[in-house]
Amino acid sequence: MVRRINHIVILGGGSAGWLTAGVLASEHQVKSNSDMIITLVESPDVRSIGVGEGTWPSMRDTMRSMGVSEAAFLTECDASFKQASKFVGWVTAATDDYYYHPFSAPQGYGEVDLVPAWADLQGDYRFADVASFQPHLCERGRAPKQNVTPEFAAVANYAYHLDAGKFGQFMQKFCVETLGVRHVLAHVQSVETRDNGDISGLQTVEHGLVEGDLFVDCTGFSSLLLGQHYGISYISTRDQLFCDTALALQVPYAEADSEIASHTISSAQSAGWIWDIGLPTRRGVGYVYSSAHSSDEAAEQALRKHVRQTSGSAANITGDPRKIDIRPGYREKFWHRNCVAVGISAGFIEPLEASALALIEMSARMIADELPATRESMDIVARRFNKRFRYRWKRIVDFLKLHYVLSQREDSEFWIDNRRSETVSARLQELLALWRYRSPSRRDFHEIEEIFPAASYQYVLYGMGFRPESGNPERRLEDRAAATGCFQTTGQLAAKYLRGLPSNRELINHVAARGMKRI
Ligand SMILES: Cc1cc2nc3c(=O)[nH]c(=O)nc-3n(C[C@H](O)[C@H](O)[C@H](O)COP(=O)(O)OP(=O)(O)OC[C@H]3O[C@@H](n4cnc5c(N)ncnc54)[C@H](O)[C@@H]3O)c2cc1C
Repeated sequence: MVRRINHIVILGGGSAGWLTAGVLASEHQVKSNSDMIITLVESPDVRSIGVGEGTWPSMRDTMRSMGVSEAAFLTECDASFKQASKFVGWVTAATDDYYYHPFSAPQGYGEVDLVPAWADLQGDYRFADVASFQPHLCERGRAPKQNVTPEFAAVANYAYHLDAGKFGQFMQKFCVETLGVRHVLAHVQSVETRDNGDISGLQTVEHGLVEGDLFVDCTGFSSLLLGQHYGISYISTRDQLFCDTALALQVPYAEADSEIASHTISSAQSAGWIWDIGLPTRRGVGYVYSSAHSSDEAAEQALRKHVRQTSGSAANITGDPRKIDIRPGYREKFWHRNCVAVGISAGFIEPLEASALALIEMSARMIADELPATRESMDIVARRFNKRFRYRWKRIVDFLKLHYVLSQREDSEFWIDNRRSETVSARLQELLALWRYRSPSRRDFHEIEEIFPAASYQYVLYGMGFRPESGNPERRLEDRAAATGCFQTTGQLAAKYLRGLPSNRELINHVAARGMKRI
């Protein structure tokens, strides 16, 4: 008998559960399609994690394709615009030690190699400053678009900073009211299976048995279905990325109209790094650190010191930070039988490049696009899914490690340990050897949708102080002329956009008061 996939049950109502529900429901037009049901089951007793404030530009596409109003999203999720990450103190910890990883690709990306000309001609200029206009906008607190720019359109590529709790509520309302997702508030206490080992239903305290054809495990750290029920093993990445604890705080602005940073600030510390994210009504700040290299007390002191130094005298900082234990790593596979894990239940690694929500979007998109019509074809999709996401997790580990391995800091064991070759994957070591003679390029990354493109590697590599050896001098002459033109374009665009763009705060106030032009 052919078993058709008509009913998808998503377990978990955090960002992973609601984003997956939204992507699936909009793609399969669940509201008007009587052949497809999506039910989201969420425990009234287990809170969602409630952190995760930085996103990628992919979130714009995700929201737009679901039919969300960007103005409503910004206002209801207390969201602001994000254009980059700024890494402070990662190379030497000197006072002028910072670099940007912006969302806009380097000028001429894919056609002109800027690196030799930058290395030869630009002397002390930061790579991102000559390759992209966007760090200049961030340094001056500018928004990525004008008041009149329509929803989701951009002058400069952007994503969002958002309040994770409010985002969950917003998505829940939108998914239920607009997209036709069924919402069941019930705590799952056991899992029912078929003879072949597939899950047949979830036994809940409040609503009895919830049956389905495909089960999406979005239960966060508990990984109830994939981890606990199926016992799929966990691949720890602690031997490469040491951070395993976070302390999170919410910090008020000194003034109601304080500037809102249009980038995430990641400040290196002696045992990890502090994130600092500006929302319209508050900042989210937290220290992610290695418990093998710092006590909780020392980490809290460092966090409080950062908050004091960055908050101005009028800011009223109260409350204790919330401690979150992180087990860095990912599952050996993500899709097993008729169960696929999305979000923290699939894995979690320190949020240094805010890749978790982006990975959720990619997972949901692949499930929606390749949704097997029948149980018989599901194992094929599962194999493809596992292969693709195993590759992506490995690339995330490598890319995050790049931020550590090139540091010249000697002030703590954390930084020294991070440079030990046994903590760096063979692939990353190989790439670093290649990049001594040429810049990261598309040839180094084979997937169509690479999680981090060569452009991102360029920003971090050269931001971290890596300098290439001189290459073929003839090619450099040609490239140098083209690259010099690109540097001039960067400067011209920066000047033009600085003249024409409002501040991040001005644009957010404008959206709150007047909304945005719909597309
Ligand atoms: C310190 C920190 C900072 C982060 N920063 C970022 C960032 O800047 N950018 C980014 O992209 N990501 C970030 N993340 C990751 C991000 O927060 C998560 O990927 C995202 O919130 C998804 O979480 P989740 O939905 O998988 O899990 P959760 O939010 O934990 O949701 C789990 C859900 O499962 C339900 N559940 C559990 N058990 C049961 C049960 N028995 N029955 C029924 N329901 C159950 C719960 O009720 C809940 O709804 C960060 C994470 C941490 C820890």
